[in-house]
Amino acid sequence: MIVHKFGGTSVGSGELFGRVADIVIEQQASAEGVLDDRKGVQSAAPVVIVSAMSGTTDRLVAGARAATEGKDAVYRDIKAELLASHLDVVKSMLTDGRERLEVGGLIEDRLHDLERLYRSIGVLGELTARGADAVVAFGEQLSANILAAILRERGARAQAVSATELIVTDDNFGAAVPLMTPTGQRLRQRIEPLLEQGVIPVITGYIAATEKGATTTLGRGGSDYTAAIVGAGLEAEEVWIWSDVDGILTADPNIVPQAQTLSELSYNEATELAYFGAEVLHPKTIRPVIENSIPLRILNTFNPDRAGTLIVETPSPERKLLPAIISATGLSLIAIGGQDNSWALQMAARALQHLSDAGVDVLMFSQSFSEQNLNLVVRERDQAHCLNVLCRAFGDGTAQEWSGLPLNGEGSSVGSFRKLGDICSLGAKERVATVSVVGVPGWNDTGIAARAFAALGKHGARVIAVAQAATEQSVSFCIPEDQLADTVRCLHRELGLEGEHE
Ligand code: ASP
Ligand code: MG
Repeated sequence: MIVHKFGGTSVGSGELFGRVADIVIEQQASAEGVLDDRKGVQSAAPVVIVSAMSGTTDRLVAGARAATEGKDAVYRDIKAELLASHLDVVKSMLTDGRERLEVGGLIEDRLHDLERLYRSIGVLGELTARGADAVVAFGEQLSANILAAILRERGARAQAVSATELIVTDDNFGAAVPLMTPTGQRLRQRIEPLLEQGVIPVITGYIAATEKGATTTLGRGGSDYTAAIVGAGLEAEEVWIWSDVDGILTADPNIVPQAQTLSELSYNEATELAYFGAEVLHPKTIRPVIENSIPLRILNTFNPDRAGTLIVETPSPERKLLPAIISATGLSLIAIGGQDNSWALQMAARALQHLSDAGVDVLMFSQSFSEQNLNLVVRERDQAHCLNVLCRAFGDGTAQEWSGLPLNGEGSSVGSFRKLGDICSLGAKERVATVSVVGVPGWNDTGIAARAFAALGKHGARVIAVAQAATEQSVSFCIPEDQLADTVRCLHRELGLEGEHE
């Protein structure tokens, strides 16, 4: 049995839902009659995991924020928008009167419930992590029901299943951790009978529940994690992640259209790429498949015939070795400076510890002893939180909140922290991007870093910070966001990744 996960962009419109249904039905047909060696049973029905329609989770969150601020009109508009976008799909994709009526009714009911939930959040005037999870859970529930109905209308047997019935987690709302033993039991009890009857389970991605039944989520982008958890729990032969790119590529294809697909990677290499910001997979996501040695494939819903990228324990020795250029945007650079000569590794360690305790992901850091500072790259959305945490950790206790003083011009908000504790300056620069060149052992004898520096030097790129792994297999640059496309194209060309198509 194969677990197929479709992300939000794969179900962004009625037409796309139709495409996904085509792929699922084709997969079911090609699996028909194939014996699952491990279980000695026919493994016809694929298991499907689906995300919310693209943009839906963000809108749900925005509605909840509006509710806490008492902006009733805003959350009502959001509810109306979501109703319209989901009903549009139903109208364009379902012709059968009964399915249409049922799913249409379900969408209306659920969104009515959402509005009630928004109203109670408004009354409380506060949004807890638990409340936020209850809100965002609506997105996946709607898309799973719609997809199951479309599959049924096309003659397949399919059933929407909420993962709140399947995946048991702790109560760390917003980024809950699955408890694999009870989850495995529930998956086998609930899903295997469906598979035996040839029913395709269409499971909600991203969401889960505590043992007591409170809705949780696995963190943003969590549907991949759902796929891996379900794959591990059901001992799937493979887990396939369908997205909107041809797999893991040598560069972002939106920037470099000629980027090549990396055909095969090891689990370690894929995890490493993810750490550098490859959006395709989050490292924790693939842990359940790694632990169970389940092969993972990244495929393109918009180009289903491409081979994609296969991620396995031991890649074949014949695979083509290529480095990947990974770029990430929507980032901020935070700089913390020490007082004269006081900067020590210890301070960097303390800063990182505080941020990790506060749940801020630090995507890259580099420190310079000569300039007495530490540079941290965080997501723009974490910037305020990150500055507040550092302010509390290093300030003299008078300031509990960061109040940035614009200093540096150029649209950056680098401010200095005047109340001196251990540090004398703290600031942020918005709209930065990172570009990492990550090699695989054996790709090239000369160090990646040297070649990347040479390329950027030739191009005259403005580099704000650099971080390099000790192995020479990778190097990361922090640059202004508006220079990203040029920089990536230049690196791709200079590293010789173009023009050698097979
Ligand atoms: N819908 C969720 C999100 O937008 C989960 C996912 O798409 O994987 O984060
Ligand atoms: Mg995703």
